[in-house]
Amino acid sequence: MSTKEIDIHSALKHHFGFSKFKGLQESVIKSVVAREDVFVIMPTGGGKSLCYQLPALITEGTAIIVSPLIALMKNQVDAIRGISDHDGVAHVLNSSLNKTEVKQVKEDIVNGVTKLLYVAPESLTKEEHVEFLRSVTISFMAVDEAHCISEWGHDFRPEYRNLRHIIKRIGDNIPIIGLTATATPKVQEDILKSLDIQDATTFKASFNRPNLYYEIRPKTKTVDADIIRFVKKNDGKSGIVYCLSRKRVEELSQVLQVNGVKAVPYHAGLDPKTRVKHQDMFLMEDCDVVVATIAFGMGIDKPDVRFVIHHDIPKSIESYYQETGRAGRDGGEGHCLAYYAYKDIEKLEKFMSGKPVAEQEIGHALLQEVVAFAETSVSRRKFILHYFGEEFDNATGEGGDMDDNVRYPKKQNEAKSDVVIVLDTVKKTNEKYKSKDLVQVLFGETNALISSHKTDAQPFFGIGKHQSKRYWMALIRQVLVAGFLKKDIETYGVLRIPDEGHEYLKSPKSFMMAEDHVFDEGTDDGIIT
Ligand code: ADP
Repeated sequence: MSTKEIDIHSALKHHFGFSKFKGLQESVIKSVVAREDVFVIMPTGGGKSLCYQLPALITEGTAIIVSPLIALMKNQVDAIRGISDHDGVAHVLNSSLNKTEVKQVKEDIVNGVTKLLYVAPESLTKEEHVEFLRSVTISFMAVDEAHCISEWGHDFRPEYRNLRHIIKRIGDNIPIIGLTATATPKVQEDILKSLDIQDATTFKASFNRPNLYYEIRPKTKTVDADIIRFVKKNDGKSGIVYCLSRKRVEELSQVLQVNGVKAVPYHAGLDPKTRVKHQDMFLMEDCDVVVATIAFGMGIDKPDVRFVIHHDIPKSIESYYQETGRAGRDGGEGHCLAYYAYKDIEKLEKFMSGKPVAEQEIGHALLQEVVAFAETSVSRRKFILHYFGEEFDNATGEGGDMDDNVRYPKKQNEAKSDVVIVLDTVKKTNEKYKSKDLVQVLFGETNALISSHKTDAQPFFGIGKHQSKRYWMALIRQVLVAGFLKKDIETYGVLRIPDEGHEYLKSPKSFMMAEDHVFDEGTDDGIIT
């Protein structure tokens, strides 16, 4: 064992009282201590904070921790102060401090007392702060919730964009540590580029949650009754039911109460007192179920949530993963049930229509993934992990049988010749269409784009008339999931054929396609406000 290894183990015990590192923590910490740029991708609860807290405590100088949420910063500062002899060990620098407080913070930094300085990105733009930080020893910069840097993340913050520039001004050789819990390959690429740490040592923990059971049901008019039945069957267990609208939250919690379920509503429209009361009731087990909008959940650490129900499908796989991730934190049972109707997707699309075009395109692409996920016949777990850039083998992987598609496989039909038609058409049209346009080409319908390319005059135009448009959409989604087609991200979803697709065209193999489900019925109630 080298001296450093001994150091970090005893520091873990000394400062945090833990006897073992969790997951990748040890390797991450070694890299940070060695002053490398580091990129950490770990699911929520994975133990990211320790990856910078421990090195900050044992290295020379002050570590700057950039974090987007004041509440989270305060929690962390309190926690660190709790394990130290000196309150000055951790500080927050933000606009809520008065002059005297700012002076105290700076004094503690100059005197080498402060090991962790939490800042919101907007505070870092203040010239006087930058000037000050240039003059002191900075051990490293940790950028927490680094996905905020990417428009492809679920929580884009424009202030994060400037970070690299500011860090450079504070010092040339400051190591950077980016940390996130939601990193699709696209977001990861954005983070590395934006922070200019392309050579960072990357640590990625598995996102697999083997104890969670994933299930999607078609959403019909009887969705409320279905939810009531489910909740009553799980009587006495803790659960969260997510709805998109406040109105729905109110209605559904009442319906549950009328049916004898101890349920409370939670949404941002309730006054703060009621919100705190309902949250506490849930944590203290004075109620079983919280019916909530996504305003509920951040920082809720209840280990024994037994089910998470989505009355409305979320707007991205990341959101779905985060929200379902609140189930089964203790490693016990966690049932994740979502209701899906294509109509809800269309509503979400309409919802985005007022936003800037680029944002809309991204939102649309994220929604397409949700559609693919909801309609897939592939294992839900495999799909989610694939989305996060992780390969999963259901036969050998933990939790391999823990989803509806694996337990109750959908009826499948051979679609080899239709897959060939799809790939061939993408190829013959020189990879220039998105799914919707390609389906029109297959079906023999033209539009301005198709006719501008004169594709409607080609012999293969309408080659897929023997199937419905819905069939082709569903097939394309499945071919994408199988990896024979790829959506080009730069062009927001133009279909391209990767090597695997060309291989397939050369020697087509059996391709079993799940029978289409009725996802088009929907409900009449779903006002999304
Ligand atoms: P994240 O930021 O990745 O969501 P946290 O840093 O909040 O995760 O850590 C999650 C939980 O795990 C916290 O309660 C923390 O105290 C605990 N934890 C972190 N590291 C260890 C460890 N080495 N041993 C035991 N518990 C740990």
